[in-house]
Amino acid sequence: MSSQIDSSKDKSIRENRSRCDSFVDRLEQKLKCRREQNLFRKRHTLASRQGSTVKIDNHELINFCSNDYLGLANHPEMVSAFKKTADQYGVGSGASSLVCGRCDLHQRLEEKLAEKTGREAALLFPSGYMANLAVATTFAGRADGVFLDRLAHASLIDAARLSNARLHRYQHVDPSSLDLALKKSSSNEKLVLTDAVFSMDGDKAPLKELISVCNVNHAVLVVDDAHGFGVLGKTGGGLLEEKEIPVGDVPIFVATFGKALGTAGAFIAADQTIIETLIQFARTYIYTTAQPPALVSATLASLEVLESESWRREKLGALVKRFCSGASALGLNLLSSETAIQPLVIGGSENASRISHNLFDKGFLITAIRPPTVPEGSARLRITLSAVHTEEQVDRLLETLGSLL
Ligand SMILES: *Cc1c(COP(=O)(O)O)cnc(C)c1O
Repeated sequence: MSSQIDSSKDKSIRENRSRCDSFVDRLEQKLKCRREQNLFRKRHTLASRQGSTVKIDNHELINFCSNDYLGLANHPEMVSAFKKTADQYGVGSGASSLVCGRCDLHQRLEEKLAEKTGREAALLFPSGYMANLAVATTFAGRADGVFLDRLAHASLIDAARLSNARLHRYQHVDPSSLDLALKKSSSNEKLVLTDAVFSMDGDKAPLKELISVCNVNHAVLVVDDAHGFGVLGKTGGGLLEEKEIPVGDVPIFVATFGKALGTAGAFIAADQTIIETLIQFARTYIYTTAQPPALVSATLASLEVLESESWRREKLGALVKRFCSGASALGLNLLSSETAIQPLVIGGSENASRISHNLFDKGFLITAIRPPTVPEGSARLRITLSAVHTEEQVDRLLETLGSLL
């Protein structure tokens, strides 16, 4: 019986295949081209939980490429919150937030996030990608302009494109370049979107300078702190807290849960009017299923851990320092970054992939980041540190990099 089903399925696959043969051939060409350029992506499949070491194909590897900067992805209190809520609320949220998918836990998390960021309100999203799409498409349209740093995260670029606003790119971390672009623009609303910590370079946006440029030019500044929230600042409030920037200077703040907070999802924090406008108009809020309550509960627990275990931020800071000074003693070509993201620029994609493979053979997981994720000729090993690494693991990485480069 089952073989009969299989063979009829095979037949239908074959028929479909022949119907779009030339389409598939063109895709094969495209894939071949990507392979020849050393840009072909291969996915790793972990056979373990996330952590400072992971298992892949029976290899035990020290993991230096995750965004779980504080090691919270399997924090016992968060796991327990997740389980308890799953017992109580089940697994799925059942609907979008505007229909019946939003429960008291979503509300509590939004209130907590508003409080933590010192703002009137906050709104949850299933991912940072969707939060960024929401900001640009809700607050900019055809007659408006969106201004992005040259190295802005892909989700900000896509957000700007989807908004139909005029897209301007300014030089990386260069307020005067932004100033020039704003002065030349005749757009109605001007929306400036910037990463707080640049995801592939690890450097920080010059927020104070960007704020003055935006003020002078009547532009609205949006800061995406995906890589700073939880890690930077005394209480993990992010780059704004670290630089003691008054919340009023940055009207719209976006941050994610999938990195330092160890869960998944994102939020936008702003004043009530901005949040209410998003609730009414943001399509990536309205037309998507609300986050599972258990996940929301784990994120709530994560916020508690951020407060009670500040040692994680301190330890991460010490490991970053240790890595940087060891790397500079070895003469490694690190980008100038003070954050947990420590990119080692290799240049060519082939070289970067080869070194990544060599590191794998020596027991380290560090994927090569290649164009178009980073600019042409700047393929790199994006090394990330986590509070759950040991000093010994960092030293072993340095030793191995020294022997390979
Ligand atoms: C990772 C990241 C995002 C996307 O967040 P997800 O929750 O993973 O979709 C957005 N912005 C920046 C700067 C990021 O690094």
